Amino acid sequence: MAKHKKTPQRLDPKRARQLIAKIEKVCSGTITTRMKVCGKPECRCATDPDARHGPYYEWTRREGKRLLHSVVSAAEANDLQTAIANYRKVQQLMKEWEAHSVELIRSTHPQSPRRNHH
Ligand SMILES: [Zn+2]
Repeated sequence: MAKHKKTPQRLDPKRARQLIAKIEKVCSGTITTRMKVCGKPECRCATDPDARHGPYYEWTRREGKRLLHSVVSAAEANDLQTAIANYRKVQQLMKEWEAHSVELIRSTHPQSPRRNHH
């Protein structure tokens, strides 16, 4: 078996910005799938867990202080999954960009007084 070695690589900030610029959609939240029982006593789902209906896709997200749940189609869930992954990618890229910016700013102003952390 081939081993994948992931060395922590510092991103070029230009590349981080380019990658962010390419992203079309970002969404927050999570997608969960559920199987449901319809409630009809004659239906197979009443006795067989494998015969439950679905999957149904639910998108859970925060809007301000409220937690919102919505049932979405499989196609929409798929689209949302991509956008959610993009959101996380942008957050990661922003962190890299920020770290690089701090280094850059500090090296540009080597003489500024440093405040100690307490
Ligand atoms: Zn059923």
